Amino acid sequence: MSQAIMSQSMATVAYLGAAILFIMSLGGLSNPESSRRGNLFGMLGMALAVLATVLGPRVSASGMAWVVGALVLGGGIGLYAAKVVKMTQMPELVALMHSLVGLAACLVGYASYVDTSVRFQGAEKVIHEVEIYIGILIGAVTFSGSLVAFGKLNGKIGGKPLLLPARHWLNLLALLVVIAYGREFVMAETVADGLVPLIVMTLIALLFGVHMVMAIGGADMPVVVSMLNSYSGWAAAATGFMLGNDLLIVTGALVGSSGAILSYIMCNAMNRNFISVIAGGFGGGAPAKSAGAGAAAEPQGEVVAVSAADTAELLREAKSVVIVPGYGMAVAQAQHTVNDITKTLRDKGVNVRFAIHPVAGRMPGHMNVLLAEAKVPYDIVLEMDEINEDFPDTDVAIVIGANDIVNPAAQDDPTSPIAGMPVLEVWKAKTSIVMKRSMASGYAGVDNPLFYKDNNRMLFGDAKKMLDEVLGALRA
Ligand code: NDP
Repeated sequence: MSQAIMSQSMATVAYLGAAILFIMSLGGLSNPESSRRGNLFGMLGMALAVLATVLGPRVSASGMAWVVGALVLGGGIGLYAAKVVKMTQMPELVALMHSLVGLAACLVGYASYVDTSVRFQGAEKVIHEVEIYIGILIGAVTFSGSLVAFGKLNGKIGGKPLLLPARHWLNLLALLVVIAYGREFVMAETVADGLVPLIVMTLIALLFGVHMVMAIGGADMPVVVSMLNSYSGWAAAATGFMLGNDLLIVTGALVGSSGAILSYIMCNAMNRNFISVIAGGFGGGAPAKSAGAGAAAEPQGEVVAVSAADTAELLREAKSVVIVPGYGMAVAQAQHTVNDITKTLRDKGVNVRFAIHPVAGRMPGHMNVLLAEAKVPYDIVLEMDEINEDFPDTDVAIVIGANDIVNPAAQDDPTSPIAGMPVLEVWKAKTSIVMKRSMASGYAGVDNPLFYKDNNRMLFGDAKKMLDEVLGALRA
């Protein structure tokens, strides 16, 4: 310990600097224009935090090899994942990372409990053990819940909510058992005695995490993703308490509270009550109306298909165009062509704007990230509330690989699984054009009556391929 390169006070100052950089990072991320700077602050803060931890007095010379080995291994896996994971797989990756934070909290909890080199007495012992118990509880729920979210996001687990009979009572029972075992854990005289209630609680927490996320329907997954983000923050904060690491507490609290705020915003966007979402059951809806994600819908009438050339003609003649991007644009990686079409139309004097639904794509801000990557000007990218009333004055609304977020059933059909969710009212434009490959439903597995409206046209095919054709026709 005495050979540490950084003294405790230097490490504390570095931690303070890192905490400030993290706060500046969050500030930067609140706006697309400053988000790159925000990212940079975050990276600098993390580098400073890692350096101060590795070089500080808590890592002994003999432990250094382990720490560096773990850094190289973890950093290597992270680098590899960043290179190979596609943008559309990002939400799954994030869910997987949340699960790792939860797992880390569990492992640190068990390690600090069985660590015989540090023994607390009296009130300190109780506080330390309560930290361990709560840390492992949050960690285990985050771990298993995030794994199920990962499965639901990549389609390995179906989107339909699993609704066990008396599930609320089961949850309540689990909570009471966890509290009872918590008391036994803190009262235990020896580590061996304490391990039994700790393991039982961990198993219950793992089951609770699975049950909680399994009970949530496809359409409410955005709330779950941000909620698990928040949990992973609290799990990190709990780890900070167990390790006595102030920076981890601060950082965990920042992630935990910003995730909670995001969950709240997502709930508002979906017109859902937060508690009801957590209690589960939303988004599964009436089976008769639900087609299952990606399944072909029962025909509800005639659809009118258009060609890329006709689409180009409609766009060329329009004065006002609103583009609604969705998950399919991310799959097709069509954002650059979208930008080229936007530029071409604007050069011809057409007023082109983008309408962004808060849950478009598969993660918060998904569409904004893609459009920013393609260098679409920020000032024409508008949030749902800013543009939804403009559709009646729009000549052409072009929907690129979006489905649930433009589904009129959310407004018209009270039995729909997405009833009450605010949607972009593209059908109010003079003409709406939906670009997708087939008649398949979106993530929520709900049929979409928009496709059958008189003023709607379907442009079938991969979004990138079809937009390339539209661009070619526009430039011809
Ligand atoms: P949807 O999943 O509702 O629809 C996407 C559509 O894109 C599909 O119907 C698909 O139809 C089409 N598509 C897929 N690939 C292509 C392609 N290559 N070219 C053209 N079209 C394609 O997406 P939305 O963005 O409308 O809605 C998001 C949904 O995801 C909501 O239900 C939301 O709740 C949920 N969700 C959102 C999260 C978030 O944080 N934003 C997180 C988790 C879930 P086809 O197969 O016929 O081509």
